[in-house]
Amino acid sequence: MSAPLVIVGTGMAGYGVLRALRHVDTRQPVWIAAADDGAAYAKFELATALAQRREAGQLVVATAEQMAYRFGATVEPHCRVVAIDRERRVVRTQTSGRASGEQAYSRLVLATGAEAVRPSAMRGSAADRILTVSSLAEYTYLRSELAGRKRVVVLGGDLPGCELAGNLLRGGCEVTLLEPQNRLLCDSFPTLCAGRIEQDLRSAGVSLWIEDGIHRIEQRGYDLEITTLSGLRLIAEVVVAALGSRPRSTLAREAGLDVASAIVVNGQMRSSDEHIFAVGECAQMANRVFAHVDDIEESVRVLAGGLTGGRNRMLRWHPRSRRMQTGCSEAVICEPPRGLDGEWHECATGRGVRALFHDRSGKLRGFALVGATTDETHRLLSGVGHWWSG
Ligand SMILES: Cc1cc2nc3c(=O)[nH]c(=O)nc-3n(C[C@H](O)[C@H](O)[C@H](O)COP(=O)(O)OP(=O)(O)OC[C@H]3O[C@@H](n4cnc5c(N)ncnc54)[C@H](O)[C@@H]3O)c2cc1C
Repeated sequence: MSAPLVIVGTGMAGYGVLRALRHVDTRQPVWIAAADDGAAYAKFELATALAQRREAGQLVVATAEQMAYRFGATVEPHCRVVAIDRERRVVRTQTSGRASGEQAYSRLVLATGAEAVRPSAMRGSAADRILTVSSLAEYTYLRSELAGRKRVVVLGGDLPGCELAGNLLRGGCEVTLLEPQNRLLCDSFPTLCAGRIEQDLRSAGVSLWIEDGIHRIEQRGYDLEITTLSGLRLIAEVVVAALGSRPRSTLAREAGLDVASAIVVNGQMRSSDEHIFAVGECAQMANRVFAHVDDIEESVRVLAGGLTGGRNRMLRWHPRSRRMQTGCSEAVICEPPRGLDGEWHECATGRGVRALFHDRSGKLRGFALVGATTDETHRLLSGVGHWWSG
């Protein structure tokens, strides 16, 4: 019997490939490894779920066993792929409580996702008590730490930090947000828009400490004592870093695949090895990582089409908008391509703030909206020029 298609990872990308594949091919054997318990859930709901105080179990749409049964695949939970032997076409695995093993593949799909960035060079006895929330397991742990506690410090004031702060506040916490740069949302929103979002967060009750970060963090009884970069003291019960995520690409790098900030793929999601593909947040095409759920969904369909011998469609980047989910502001961002030469033009009105990004030739290449102007999202999105093909 020929070796199965092997998928590494059971996030929206890994399970997405399985689902899309089964639409067209119910027979191809599929074997999937999950480093975690393999439960299917929507990672992008983790921040808003904190506001709703949902238990982790309520976020699970299907267990590994249910996914395996429903889509006719073998799903191995708590099974980490630790190496790829490209010559023999096998992956080496480590399953908790069992000896290491091997699994042969006909084709291999890496869907290892991304992990939260942790603050570097943190000092103090409680430096290891800084939490992150970028997986269901981390969400579960954070929820347990929040039980009976209220005072939370969020580290990082870009989009993930603002969303986390807003949602923790709505979930009943007293929230202080520390941002070392001189304003919020430096990497995503232009100045006026960021200023309006900052106002909204403050009015809702988030305490914002701009141009400040954590220098030391010490355990003091049940509390955490934070000394900030500017020398101020702050007492918290829970500290969460929201500094964005980093693609998990070590496996691919160690196997000798072409890796930049993520695994480099072409428009068919193929890596530099013709038998190995990558999808989701661990992959990048034309210098851009697949970090938006709509891009991941589309790439998964393209890959499934290719894997089942269908029409070989090439993926193209499309402009995407992302609604900020703080619960304190209405805000939408359609980020222009990174590094593109151009300028933001912002305009504040009674309805909110509208910011348009034009490239040097005057083409609209991105936008940001805050307040009631967010109702212009669809009109503006259809006017943003196509970016580039992979
Ligand atoms: C709080 C939060 C809010 C977000 N909000 C939005 C939003 O509003 N809009 C948006 O577009 N995006 C949002 N995102 C981003 C979006 O959720 C992710 O881009 C997407 O879920 C990534 O899916 P993935 O399958 O690529 O990766 P992941 O969900 O990270 O899945 C990776 C899987 O691979 C497994 N794995 C890793 N290494 C191994 C290994 N060696 N062996 C076996 N298994 C392995 C992991 O256990 C995991 O199951 C948000 C993300 C977070 C954290």
